Amino acid sequence: MNAVRARPLHACADALGLYGAALATAVAAPGGAAAKEAVLGYSPANMDKRVSPRQDFYRYAVGNWLDRTGIPASEPDIGAFNQIEINLDRQVLKLIKDAAAANAAPGSPRQQIGDYWRAAMDLKRLDELGIKPLQDDLDRIAALTLPGNNAALGDLSGRLQIGYGFSPLVGVGVDTDAKNSSAYLLTISAGQQWLDRDDYAKPDRQRVRDLYLGYIGSMMRSTGLSEQDAEAAARTVLSIETEISAAQLTPLQAIDPDVTYNIMSLAEAQALIPALDLSAQLQAVGITPPATVQVPNIAALKAVNKVLGTRSPDEIRTLLRWHVLTGRASFLGQPWRGLDEAFKRQRMDLQADKPREREVTFEVAVLLFSPLSKLYVEAYFPESTRRDMTQMVGYIKDEFERRLRSNPWLDEPTRAAALDKLAKVDIQVGYPREWIDYGPVVIRPDDYFGNAVCLGEFRQRRRLARLGQPVVVERFASPPFTTPTSVNAAYSPQTNSIDITAAIVQPPFYFPTADASVNYCTIGAVIGHELTHGFDSNGSRYGPAGNLRDWWTPQAKAEFEKRTDVLVQQYSALTLLPGLTQDGELTLTENTADLGGITLAHAALHRALAGKPQPKIDGLTTDQRCFVAWAQMWAYKGRPERVRSLASTDFHASSTLRGFAPLLHLDAFHRAFGTRPGDPMWRAPKDRVVIW
Ligand SMILES: [Zn+2]
Repeated sequence: MNAVRARPLHACADALGLYGAALATAVAAPGGAAAKEAVLGYSPANMDKRVSPRQDFYRYAVGNWLDRTGIPASEPDIGAFNQIEINLDRQVLKLIKDAAAANAAPGSPRQQIGDYWRAAMDLKRLDELGIKPLQDDLDRIAALTLPGNNAALGDLSGRLQIGYGFSPLVGVGVDTDAKNSSAYLLTISAGQQWLDRDDYAKPDRQRVRDLYLGYIGSMMRSTGLSEQDAEAAARTVLSIETEISAAQLTPLQAIDPDVTYNIMSLAEAQALIPALDLSAQLQAVGITPPATVQVPNIAALKAVNKVLGTRSPDEIRTLLRWHVLTGRASFLGQPWRGLDEAFKRQRMDLQADKPREREVTFEVAVLLFSPLSKLYVEAYFPESTRRDMTQMVGYIKDEFERRLRSNPWLDEPTRAAALDKLAKVDIQVGYPREWIDYGPVVIRPDDYFGNAVCLGEFRQRRRLARLGQPVVVERFASPPFTTPTSVNAAYSPQTNSIDITAAIVQPPFYFPTADASVNYCTIGAVIGHELTHGFDSNGSRYGPAGNLRDWWTPQAKAEFEKRTDVLVQQYSALTLLPGLTQDGELTLTENTADLGGITLAHAALHRALAGKPQPKIDGLTTDQRCFVAWAQMWAYKGRPERVRSLASTDFHASSTLRGFAPLLHLDAFHRAFGTRPGDPMWRAPKDRVVIW
């Protein structure tokens, strides 16, 4: 390590002051046609016709796929989403490699993507640098004198937030005010932790905790600590994180505005955590202290304060050192990078690491999402697909409107409000109207660590600079979840809008050449699913402009809950693994949306086909193909560790259940496959729920 110069002095921006502006350029018209790729998803060959659809519909629809498909050694699971992702990675990798070969102008998307790639793939240089990129921050932590140094603690917490994307103590952010979507609020939250809330607490997660302890210990030893000190440090980290995690919200509480909307003065927030000077943290991240702030979780902030007041200075420094080490371990040389990979692999019980090329592809898709997406839609997203999708969106929205007008359980005031809200939903397909300009960020071909820091800083400072400015709604800008290259469709209650990404509009969710029953009951049902989110137990609390306001009458709410209670019972009785059932409460809004989505898609399909011949295809009627296509969209296999983790954190039911459970409420499903009382797939008409 001694002969290597430290990483080059890396000035993140090529000009001062550019981060603050709302940077955007006009969208280039997409040109290229979609590349030819292997066909995934819907196919009669995926079915197992030896099984009766009346006995086990999921097995009937996807049995051959299940028999043929193994979980790749480097994946926690396999299903439609990661099948697309594997396909997508190939498309994106080609764009990245072409960019790296292009010798493009400084600051252009191709230069940034190409140089990021070059630096990331130079493992020899990373290994030569080892842990050096962290040295300044490790020194700063070592020099921190405690206790009683509240301003220094606030300053360091702010520096960590900007440099690493998080702080283990306090995080500050800028979000729109849930009660006034035309203004921003400063949010103050307890800092980040590395495991899921349940991992710290539940007896059946001891395996994860043991792995985590081993991982922390090895990382600490690699920085020069003795075996004994490293083990003690690991126990300290786990014990502090466990203490704070006990005050974290459950997933359902975290999305409940009654719990999370807590406006107060900055002085009141400071009183929750006197051990850390919030003004010093705000100064470090470049924010002028505002009069009022929002604290989503008061108890967690108090828990951090208690830790700061009761743990020894050495323990606090150990926690900070750990966050610096693990937060950027994947950007370091060996052994740190390898230890990080090993922990992630073992935690999910994977057999192999993801190839380096795919790891870096994912990083580019997150850190440089806007420049990459621009290249992606130019190369792979034909305008014809966008037109096709926009038309289908129109049909499904019309169908929803029709059904709202005749819905028997909505009272008139709620119906009128629902129709008003539906008319104002803004749906965009593929990519945003404007791209974010990453041009000011300097990406070097020889500084992988610095590139990641600069890109993280760019994103954070851009966001933080908005406080006090007019609200800018950015679409397709939430990596890794909703960008043009993420496989997703998403409804946002705060903006009453839906983004359908370019990446999801391909097989197995959408086939340009497939017949209508397949496309309606896959991507069409996904669109329907998102639409209904504006009107479920969460969406009903936000008005058409995205402001927190309950627009349901008590009767409408009671009628809705009478129906959704049935779904809670249905899903809570379904088994995922021996001894593990689905949490029907946690997954309720998503299960309601699945039922609404397939209901709307099926109805819209019939309107689109009205008066047209409907021949059998592959021996299946229109309705049979619709429901088989829906089930095949959810074809899924997961490792037990993955299924267990998702069961306690994911608002969606397991794909294995999504493939058939909502269908049992549709009369058309029972007609299509001739189910009868006594069949496992039979559900008596009185037990079927129609919500939308
Ligand atoms: Zn959903």
